[in-house]
Amino acid sequence: MIARQSWHSEIRRVAVILLVALLLGWLVGSLAAVFAVTVTVILAVWIWQLWRIQQWLHDAEAEPPESFGIWGYIFDRIYQIQSRHRDDQLRLQSALDYMQDSMASIDDGVATLDTRGRIEWCNEAAKGLLGLRYPEDRGQHILNLVRLPEFHDYFSTGEYSEPLELEIVGDEELTLQFEITRFGEGNRMVFVRDVTERVQLEKMRRDFVGNVSHEMRTPLTVIKGYLETLLSDSEIDARYLKPLQQMDQQAARMENLLKDLLWLSRIESLSGTEKGELVDVPALLEELREEWEYNYPERTIEIITETSDSIPGDYRELHSAVANLVMNAVKYSPDDSVVQVRWRREGDEYLLSVKDRGIGIDAIHLPRLTERFYRVDESRNSQTGGTGLGLAIVKHVVMGHKGELRIDSRPGKGSRFTIAIPA
Ligand code: ADP
Repeated sequence: MIARQSWHSEIRRVAVILLVALLLGWLVGSLAAVFAVTVTVILAVWIWQLWRIQQWLHDAEAEPPESFGIWGYIFDRIYQIQSRHRDDQLRLQSALDYMQDSMASIDDGVATLDTRGRIEWCNEAAKGLLGLRYPEDRGQHILNLVRLPEFHDYFSTGEYSEPLELEIVGDEELTLQFEITRFGEGNRMVFVRDVTERVQLEKMRRDFVGNVSHEMRTPLTVIKGYLETLLSDSEIDARYLKPLQQMDQQAARMENLLKDLLWLSRIESLSGTEKGELVDVPALLEELREEWEYNYPERTIEIITETSDSIPGDYRELHSAVANLVMNAVKYSPDDSVVQVRWRREGDEYLLSVKDRGIGIDAIHLPRLTERFYRVDESRNSQTGGTGLGLAIVKHVVMGHKGELRIDSRPGKGSRFTIAIPA
């Protein structure tokens, strides 16, 4: 609106000047000369105004020059846009300062990277943990400064769903955890955390469970030995027979529990290591078939192998995982139903699934099912005699193979447990 008014008044002003010039020219008898001079003066004024704009724009902070008509309007508009831009910049800068201040104060190391992986900013903790210097290292590629091969691979793959944990070789024990998130248009943020204490505590817990289980095996073997001797004595007092049988049963349960605990702590401690062996899965299933025929003679266990491929892994671990899944399938399904074990490749995954037509599991239990000692139905446990560690073992084996355990189940219909391992 104001723009249009300014234009109108400018055009009016020019028109009046030209009219007056025409009149003057006619009066003095040289119309063309007076007209030409007037137009030249008008043009000169406009060029002068343009020059003033240019001068003023040189100094962004300066107030706009005083002017009139359309030129005054243009000066004011530019000034308004500049001020708004300055305010926005100030607001942005203070938001940025606020963010950086808050990130600078946290104990985790944070570094922001541009779209090409070059450092834009990092906090004090990142300097300490990664040996970065700021602002000297600004603009340097992160991989030139953090020279850890595993971090290099992690950074380059672009697959950041899981954090990377790295034991740093040096004088002191140090384990760092890296996480990368993306933001903006391909920028990345690297978080680094000192997890040495947590890793040490976990190791202590694992060692403790492993040691206790190991230490308890010897006394248990002695107890079991005596129980067996007593039970095989035909002259034993009938009053003691039942208690002795129960003791024998419980000792066997405890033995299984210790065996599973020891196995679990071994798998856990080997979790991060590379599995170099090539496992012939069809041969493994054949070996298991013989065990199943012996252990569950009354059950039909169907094995379907759709690929003869071998995969890198740990034979004993995979053996125990499949054995546990089939044991569960047998335990939690009727005797006359079939349990199906299937080995196949689908896209870039190998899938080993165990399917039963048993009691199934309600969806609310699925998220916690692989926790140690988690049971859907506590009362059923005494009948089935499981240790509650079977699925925890399966989960750790699968994790150690960088795979995923998928559970599909419908109460009353049956369950399918699938070990998916990336090809
Ligand atoms: P458990 O020794 O009790 O079988 P697991 O860790 O192997 O321990 O399994 C945990 C729980 O998951 C079991 O107690 C059972 O309730 C449930 N479960 C496991 N497998 C199946 C299955 N195939 N069908 C139904 N429920 C199952």
